[in-house]
Amino acid sequence: MVQITGTAQKEAWDLHVLPPVEKVAPGVWSIPVPIPNNPLRYVLVYLLELDDGVALIDSGWDTADAWSALQAGLAEAGGSLSDVASVLITHIHPDHYGLAGRIRQESGATIALHPADAAILQARYADTSGLLEKMLELLQYSGVPESSQPELNLASMAIISQVSMAAPDILLEHGDRPNLAGWDLEVIWTPGHSPGHLCFYSESRKLLFSGDHVLPRITPNVAVHTQQQSNPLGDYLQALLHLAYLNVDEVLPGHEYRFADLLERVNEIIAHHSGRLAEIEQVIQNKPGITAWETTLSLTWSRPWDTIPSFMQRAANGETLAHLVILENHNHIRHEGTHPAHFYPVEPPDKSER
Ligand SMILES: [Zn+2]
Ligand SMILES: [Zn+2]
Repeated sequence: MVQITGTAQKEAWDLHVLPPVEKVAPGVWSIPVPIPNNPLRYVLVYLLELDDGVALIDSGWDTADAWSALQAGLAEAGGSLSDVASVLITHIHPDHYGLAGRIRQESGATIALHPADAAILQARYADTSGLLEKMLELLQYSGVPESSQPELNLASMAIISQVSMAAPDILLEHGDRPNLAGWDLEVIWTPGHSPGHLCFYSESRKLLFSGDHVLPRITPNVAVHTQQQSNPLGDYLQALLHLAYLNVDEVLPGHEYRFADLLERVNEIIAHHSGRLAEIEQVIQNKPGITAWETTLSLTWSRPWDTIPSFMQRAANGETLAHLVILENHNHIRHEGTHPAHFYPVEPPDKSER
C-alpha cells in the first residue's frame, strides 16, 4: 500500500466532496477542478509559483464549472489568470487539456506539450472522420458484434464536441527543461496512456508531477487505439520502470490524492499487469479461437459489464488488445484472421524432443 500524504484529499474523496485548494509544497498549489459525470470526479491542476508569474500543470475540462473552479483556485493561491505565463500539459485528454486554449486567450500564456500528442490533436478534435473509420476497423478486428459496432464507434463523440482544440506554442521532448524562472523542472516522456504523455520531475524539490501515468488507487487506461503506437502497454511499463528510481519524496498525480512511495506504487502497477497478462493467457488456453471482445467479456471488471458505459467498454476492450499485443510479441499466443482475429495459445516447445 502506498502512503497517502494528501490526507485532506483522501478525506474529501471518502466523503464524495471536492478536496480543498492546498499549498502542497513551497511554491506549489493543487487546485481540484471538477469533471462532469465521471468517476474520477476532478482533475488536480498544479500551480507553480515562478519568479515572474505562475505556471500551471494541466488545465481542466472546458465547462463553466471547471472554469470558475480554476479561477477561484488561482485567487486562493494569491494569483489570477493574468499571472499565468505557461501551461504545461501532461497529455491531451479533455480533463487535462480542455481549458488550455481559454487560459491562453485570457492570459497570453504559452501552451506546451509533447509532439506525439500534438500530432494527434487535429484528427482527434477537429477532423474526426478518419478516426471513426479506423476505430470501426479495430472493433471489427476485435470481434465486436455488428449490432454493437455503431454505438461503440461513436462512443466518445459527445466528449469530443466539448473540447476546443488549441495548438501548442512549445513542444516538449524527453529531457527538456522548460524555461520556468526559479524551477529546475525536467520533462519525462511516459507514453502509454497517451502517446505523448509527460511527467514533470523536480530533482531539487524531490517532486514528481505524474499526470495520469501513476495514480495512487487506480491504473490508467492503456489501450490499443487508432491513435496509439503498436505496443502501448509495453511502452507504458517501460516508462514506469524509468520513473521507479527517481529521487522523489512525493508524487503529485492528476487525480485522486498525493502519495509517497513511488517505487512501491510502480511495483503494484506492474504486478497488476502481470496478473492481467496471466489471466488473459489462461482465457485463451481455455477457449482457443476466442476473439478479443469475447476475451474482454471473460475478464473480471470492477463492476458488472452491463452497467459500464459504452466508451468505457470500448476502452476496456482496448486494454485487452494491449495485453494481447504483449502476449503475442512474446510468442505466448498467436492470431488468425483480422475480421475478426481469433486468438490461440502457442504451445511451449516440448523439451523432451530436443
Ligand atoms: Zn488521461
Ligand atoms: Zn486524467
